[in-house]
Amino acid sequence: MTAIDLRSDTVTLPSPGMREAIASAPVGDDVYGEDPSINALQNKMADMLGKQASLFVVSGSMGNGVSVKTLTQPGDEVILESSAHIVKYEAGSAAILSGVLLKMLEGSNGMLTAEQIEAAINPKNVHCPPTTVISLENTHNSGGGTIYPLDEIQRIHKLAKKHGIRMHLDGARLWNASVATGIALKEYARYFDTVSVCFSKGLGAPVGSIIAGSKEIIKIAHKNRKIFGGGMRQAGFLAAAAQYAVDHNIQRLSEDHKNARLLAEGIVSLPGITIDLNAVQTNIIYIQVEGGPLAAPDIVKALNKKNIFILALGPNRLRAVTHLNISEEDILQTIQAFTDLLGKS
Ligand SMILES: *Cc1c(COP(=O)(O)O)cnc(C)c1O
Repeated sequence: MTAIDLRSDTVTLPSPGMREAIASAPVGDDVYGEDPSINALQNKMADMLGKQASLFVVSGSMGNGVSVKTLTQPGDEVILESSAHIVKYEAGSAAILSGVLLKMLEGSNGMLTAEQIEAAINPKNVHCPPTTVISLENTHNSGGGTIYPLDEIQRIHKLAKKHGIRMHLDGARLWNASVATGIALKEYARYFDTVSVCFSKGLGAPVGSIIAGSKEIIKIAHKNRKIFGGGMRQAGFLAAAAQYAVDHNIQRLSEDHKNARLLAEGIVSLPGITIDLNAVQTNIIYIQVEGGPLAAPDIVKALNKKNIFILALGPNRLRAVTHLNISEEDILQTIQAFTDLLGKS
């Protein structure tokens, strides 16, 4: 019996087709700019994201870190949502490597409004750290895989322009937002100075992210990647996997969204389970556990025995994420396992 691993969409494994693409990739020394597979991927991604240039990096965290470094000076302030990946899951990189302050605003399912952000921008004077960047996350991981409304992004962009502030997009799962709404990647990306997207989440590549932006910004980002230790040599093997992921695995994300919906609706009425169905917009489901027969970590343990793996985020919170190695049949099996554990209401 193969495991049903719903802990994250990072657990996806390369398919035989992707392994073939990796094996046959032409490679060269990318620090010399001579890796054909990396150059092809960077050109393709700049085009898809509607930017002049792009830069392949090791991880989403490096994509965010290099972007923040590129858009700021030490002592600057970056406005973002309080549960953003940059805040919660990057080991303090923005403080350590860029020396910036993070001003965290509490959003609704990870979403901030233009009014909220405008009220938080520091006045330009000798006392306040200069607010130079607004960073948004789309889809928002901790918000539940929620999608930023395009009109809100446009309003935030407008006020950023008015105040001379630049914008970064943590688009680790921008693909999911685009497939769910039908809004093109480049339409989402156009309001941002830097955009970072991940190949190693739902797209199923083993490693890698891209930062896209203007030629000028990517030139600085390139130097910052070197400073962060992210210059790679024959990394075209990884770029070939990313290219394969982009060519084959974007449209199918709608299946993951359907499966997430199926799981959420299948367990939402069980005793002790609360799910905000409005927040289940893509492939992530947060499950509140309260008042039922089992606490969240006990549910995780019991499911593990049935070869089903989900994440406990504290005593009352679970996360399940659908992806390309999860089938509808796996979801039905998971719903059955939850029902056996918690009983019908
Ligand atoms: C996964 C993720 C990243 C990148 O994380 P890595 O572990 O560095 O790959 C960045 N932003 C968001 C929103 C993510 O979910």
